[in-house]
Amino acid sequence: MSKRPHKYELAVVGAGIVGLGCALAAARRGLSVVVIERGARALGASIRNFGVITVTGQDHDTIWPRARRTRDIWHELEHQAGIVVHQRGMWLAAQRMEAVAVLEAFMATDMAQGCELLDAAAARKRSPRLDSAGHKAVLASPHELRIEPREAIPRIAAWLAETQGVEFLWNTAVQALEDTTLNTARGPVSAEAVAVCPGDDLSTLFPERLAAHRVSRCKLQMLRLESPGFEMPGTLMSDLSLLRYGGFARLPEALALRQQLKAQQGEYLHHGIHLIVAQALDGSLVVGDSHHYDTADQPFSDATVDDLILAEYRRVMGAAAPAVRERWIGTYAVAPDRAALIDAPSPAVRLVVVTSGIGASTGFAIGEEVIGDLFK
Ligand SMILES: Cc1cc2nc3c(=O)[nH]c(=O)nc-3n(C[C@H](O)[C@H](O)[C@H](O)COP(=O)(O)OP(=O)(O)OC[C@H]3O[C@@H](n4cnc5c(N)ncnc54)[C@H](O)[C@@H]3O)c2cc1C
Repeated sequence: MSKRPHKYELAVVGAGIVGLGCALAAARRGLSVVVIERGARALGASIRNFGVITVTGQDHDTIWPRARRTRDIWHELEHQAGIVVHQRGMWLAAQRMEAVAVLEAFMATDMAQGCELLDAAAARKRSPRLDSAGHKAVLASPHELRIEPREAIPRIAAWLAETQGVEFLWNTAVQALEDTTLNTARGPVSAEAVAVCPGDDLSTLFPERLAAHRVSRCKLQMLRLESPGFEMPGTLMSDLSLLRYGGFARLPEALALRQQLKAQQGEYLHHGIHLIVAQALDGSLVVGDSHHYDTADQPFSDATVDDLILAEYRRVMGAAAPAVRERWIGTYAVAPDRAALIDAPSPAVRLVVVTSGIGASTGFAIGEEVIGDLFK
């Protein structure tokens, strides 16, 4: 520890996307920054997700502005840090007339800027290899980016260390905070301000505050499939997704869709399943997901849930799913009625937790807000 400055201006706990977002915002202000991570590298939600930076359909007031800012910063990092964008844009393929009604209502909002509503023939013309026989209409959004999280997250950390002067302490758990001194497994680290970004670790730092805000955990099942043999027109979602994103789900037209889905796909709603199909540059597809809520870190994966996801793939893609290459589980923090928790246990400490499963889409904007607040 001898070579480190006596006191950093900012210490960040956790090297997931939220911690990296805080470190990036602080480094851009020229602050001295240390990031302390329990693992040998980040292995939490930030490397297990789809890597979809979703803008269209996010809740208008709480998430949409953060998603647009975060997407812009990913763009900047594409050029500055060499982050590879694997896919651009999103297609939301409506399977039912009730879903078309939601998309039509969405097109009348200010969030539809730049989006198009395609009929089946126009969709087929634009992407002839995607079987659009079951698609009643497609919302095509140009705003999304898809990165490969397992390569992008370590790349950002390496770039911050190599070019922005951010120091990383890996394999170092922070056990407690005393004011702005962090007690780590390797000795104390002092800073003027601290951003605690622990993801869904609900038990190490500030467990009582997390419990008071009713922060819990959500488990998701994910698959990677072999390439379907063609390039997708963008990340694909379907009717079930319209109930999961506030920008769609809060529209009055979503009520009739919910009733239809309850009647026709009740098991999907029970497991919180909606279909996202995201493509990598090698053609492989990251496909998911499901949502099961529990404060405990439940390690088991349910084959029935994977089968339901693959059946929805078949319905929406109009073809059997390619072979499964990988399966994994991810968990993230959730809390009722809030997209993110930014709590202030003391004047120079912030506890920052994305509580709505959209940290890849909001983490950089949240990092800017936290640093702006700590270093006014
Ligand atoms: C399967 C899945 C799919 C998803 N898909 C998307 C998507 O497509 N788009 C999107 O926007 N979002 C998506 N999300 C949500 C997104 O991944 C999360 O919101 C985001 O990664 C949370 O980032 P984080 O930095 O808070 O948490 P994490 O990535 O979990 O990072 C927290 C880090 O803190 C470290 N840590 C915790 N406590 C300590 C301590 N005491 N000392 C030292 N280190 C500590 C942990 O080791 C961990 O590395 C998805 C999530 C999952 C699980």
